[in-house]
Amino acid sequence: MKIESLDLPDEVIRFYLDSGIKELYPPQAQTIEKGLLEGNNMLAAIPTASGKTLLAELAMLKAIANGGKALYIVPLRALATEKFERFKSFSSIAIKNGGLKVGISTGDFESRDEWLGSNDIIVATSEKTDSLLRNETSWMQEITTIVVDEVHLLDSVNRGPTLEVTLTKLMKLNPECQIIALSATVGNAYEVADWLKAKLVLSEWRPTDLHEGVYYGGNINFRSSQKRIDAPTQDDAINILLDTLEDGGQCLVFESSRKNCVAFAKRAGNKVSELLDKPTRKSLNEIVEQIVESGETEATNVLAQCVRNGTAFHHAGLNSAHRRLVEDGFRDNKIKMICSTPTLAAGLNLPARRVIIKSYRRYDPNYGMQPIPVLDYKQMAGRAGRPHLDPYGESVLIAKSYDEMAGLFDNYIDADAEDIWSKLGTENALRTHILSTIVNGFATTRDGLMEFIEATFFAHQNDTWGIVEVVDECLEFLRDNKMLEGEKTLLPTALGRLVSTLYIDPLSGAYIVDGLKKADNITDLTLLHLICKTPDMRQLYMRSNDYEIINDFVMSHSDEFAEIPPRSREIDYEWFLGEVKTALLILDWINEKSLEQITKKFNVGEGDVHAFSDIAVWLMHSTSRLAGLISPELSNDAVSKAVVLEKRIHYGASPELIELVSIRGIGRVRARKLYDNGLKTVADIRNSNLDTVSTLIGQKTAAKLFSEVGIHLKLSSDDSGKVSSKAMSS
Ligand code: ADP
Repeated sequence: MKIESLDLPDEVIRFYLDSGIKELYPPQAQTIEKGLLEGNNMLAAIPTASGKTLLAELAMLKAIANGGKALYIVPLRALATEKFERFKSFSSIAIKNGGLKVGISTGDFESRDEWLGSNDIIVATSEKTDSLLRNETSWMQEITTIVVDEVHLLDSVNRGPTLEVTLTKLMKLNPECQIIALSATVGNAYEVADWLKAKLVLSEWRPTDLHEGVYYGGNINFRSSQKRIDAPTQDDAINILLDTLEDGGQCLVFESSRKNCVAFAKRAGNKVSELLDKPTRKSLNEIVEQIVESGETEATNVLAQCVRNGTAFHHAGLNSAHRRLVEDGFRDNKIKMICSTPTLAAGLNLPARRVIIKSYRRYDPNYGMQPIPVLDYKQMAGRAGRPHLDPYGESVLIAKSYDEMAGLFDNYIDADAEDIWSKLGTENALRTHILSTIVNGFATTRDGLMEFIEATFFAHQNDTWGIVEVVDECLEFLRDNKMLEGEKTLLPTALGRLVSTLYIDPLSGAYIVDGLKKADNITDLTLLHLICKTPDMRQLYMRSNDYEIINDFVMSHSDEFAEIPPRSREIDYEWFLGEVKTALLILDWINEKSLEQITKKFNVGEGDVHAFSDIAVWLMHSTSRLAGLISPELSNDAVSKAVVLEKRIHYGASPELIELVSIRGIGRVRARKLYDNGLKTVADIRNSNLDTVSTLIGQKTAAKLFSEVGIHLKLSSDDSGKVSSKAMSS
């Protein structure tokens, strides 16, 4: 099917022709035949890189040309940014007076982001969409096209329930809206399509062929052929990698843990470096320089050493700058191999000639090492083969015995992906959504609530009689904790409304309110422990050598907790210690311990510290708002303490630095240098001069700093190249 034959404005067709897309891929043609451009709901369950995004684009552009507005929902912030960058290129398509506008919403939860409403396409994560609905953002009702990327995540315990309830609300709010759901191939795609009242396009077609095999006995064994792999080393995975590189390809390797990723990237680097030519080495050294500049810990040196050798590791412990440098270096074919954890397989849009699944087992805290689901295997294997660049892609599992190889063929290569199942049916999943459903008026009685639940994917898959009891337990919890009142008509209280708009679990809200009321002597630790106790906080696990240290800490600070710590023999005690350990990480962060010290002490990566502090900022903000609401009942000054702490966690700084770190471009390290050298406030900087500030933070940053504080300098260099400045304006 030719792009030109589509019922789309000429400008849209020209845009795609100009970008080299002339003919639709077969699954794309099928969705058109099934009415994508006539406004039908669609579920496209097709492999990665088979053109799902393009389908969504065509439908969105058609809707916008007809005066509509599109919402594009993604599971991860990184994906939101990727899509936003892509859709920004539509601004050149003249289908709308004033130009087509694209916005992105991933930020604060307690905000309506009304300003986003002037955009034609809005990209948001599912959590942010849920929060915008809770805050009754007005433009939500103007949406005519909803795209849901990675809809198979309905199956995820963590993300699924929010996605499911958000979609249910959107369908109730805008019944006429067109829904385009994009999914990996899953067993019961027809069931999801049925729920969404969508036409289903199910296809295994890929733009690049995928050969799936198992390495065993010196060969990669495919269904009907074999490929011999030379064995210059003792390590099978390294041999397969070297074979790929000698053939001009690149490799993605999936490992089960971060530690294994780093170890493999290091080991492989020693061999890969022997194959690098001079220009590649030069480019790699440039990447290394940027890596060193943008990291503060020992892990930076390890990554730099790997990249110098042409390899890299990639996991959630990396800071975002490093992640981007690794991804770009691989896309530019400078970095030859990335070893990544399986958690990133879904988000990583980085195809490679060959994918090596070094470990098909993953650690489960309850059951130990377990085989991964077929769906996860397919997602990893599907990364093999770069469209238009590689003649085909290859994915390789590794077996130690003939029987294991046979099992891998049966259980992965020839197996169909599992069915997906709603995860909404538990009290933990439902509690927050029941509250928001009532707060936003989607239901006002228990019967109304059950009617709402009847419209969810859970009810589509299950009888709802089983869930009635769970719903009643949630209602009882919300009433007991004064978030709801009324028997026949369910009315949210001011507390219930606030908890819903803050976007925290009602259980978190209950813990915080309860703790604030109990605590009389509030310290930073009191509030930090309180937020670390909530189910919304990510927890650090206790390791055996932590016990003594954390236990001693608890003993010597026992009067600072809002509750009396459980006795050491009680089962809750280990949880309690984990909460305290997490609080201590945040405490070190706000007391300006270096990232090197924190990552070493808590055995985490820079990326983890930022992830912990992001959640803690949001929970501390919630604490200050909740404390404000119940302040007449409090005998302490929790509000002002929480307000200061929120800022300190955001910047990772002591109170005295807040004025300086609030200036754009000045992080906590630079702020500390300025402060310790007598430049303590914005006024001090304004009264200083470029030379003084430059010696502390470098000339470029110093010049930016002056412009941030309202002094614009005219820089000039004399014959010797020495730069001097003159204030232009203030
Ligand atoms: P998916 O969303 O399924 O992962 P994308 O829509 O991102 O896949 O498409 C992957 C790549 O293929 C993109 O670079 C896209 O521009 C390109 N592409 C999509 N459809 C076509 C087509 N019909 N012809 C040529 N290239 C296409």
